[in-house]
Amino acid sequence: MSILVQDVSKVYQSGEVQILALRKASLEVPDHKVVAILGPSGSGKSTLLNVIGGIDRYDLGSITVAGETLEALKDSQLTEFRRKHAGFIFQQYNLIPTLTVEENVEVGRELSQNPLDMKEMLMKVGMWDKKDKFPSQLSGGEQQRVAIARALIKNPEFLLCDEPTGALDEETGKKILKLLQFVNKTYGTTVLIITHNQGIGEMAHKVIRMSSGEIVEAYENENPIAPE
Ligand code: ADP
Ligand code: ADP
Repeated sequence: MSILVQDVSKVYQSGEVQILALRKASLEVPDHKVVAILGPSGSGKSTLLNVIGGIDRYDLGSITVAGETLEALKDSQLTEFRRKHAGFIFQQYNLIPTLTVEENVEVGRELSQNPLDMKEMLMKVGMWDKKDKFPSQLSGGEQQRVAIARALIKNPEFLLCDEPTGALDEETGKKILKLLQFVNKTYGTTVLIITHNQGIGEMAHKVIRMSSGEIVEAYENENPIAPE
């Protein structure tokens, strides 16, 4: 069920210009780990996350996730793969404004074959007492916790987080990182996180650094600690 990325390249065509967003990127992620993806803006972090999660296609190389070789899948199969195995968290929480907390999380549940329990999920992210509130009535940190519950309730093997703390103040950002670490420990969910937050390196089992579409550094932490 691990993630294996082998020599993956991706080109974006932008008018006349070709942008090499990934250059022969290779990466292995064992199950049940937290991986931090660091690197400057434009270095290919989101592209890497998107090809692993089946949001985007790539041009060369091979990716195997949860036993599926992604370049071999048709579009409909890739959509099915994504629904079944991957949960996504973004900087903007993408909650539906006309639905309550519980109804937003229900959206994630309906897409799943073996969803987790609603109450358990909302308790775990600390939002059970606000289940009838609407997104506009919540702080940023609270909205992100709802988004995490929505991604998690379908019990995915992988949680792919693209700057989940990017719109939050530092203190709240740390709480969200702690929650993601807690999710990894409690459910064994593999968590890939793109973030600029200080302390991310220490909380991850594995850290990779990207530059100009390449993975230029990768190292492992034996004893990840909670963000301070
Ligand atoms: P990061 O997440 O590290 O900021 P991205 O993966 O978003 O980097 O982008 C990598 C490179 O690909 C950048 O040069 C970016 O401008 C380019 N890029 C990303 N998405 C597109 C797109 N849809 N069309 C054209 N170029 C893109
Ligand atoms: P914000 O800063 O966005 O309002 P916080 O993350 O500071 O949100 O949390 C608001 C309240 O919820 C605090 O009292 C905090 O202790 C509590 N809280 C935060 N995370 C959790 C969690 N995972 N489980 C239970 N309660 C939490």
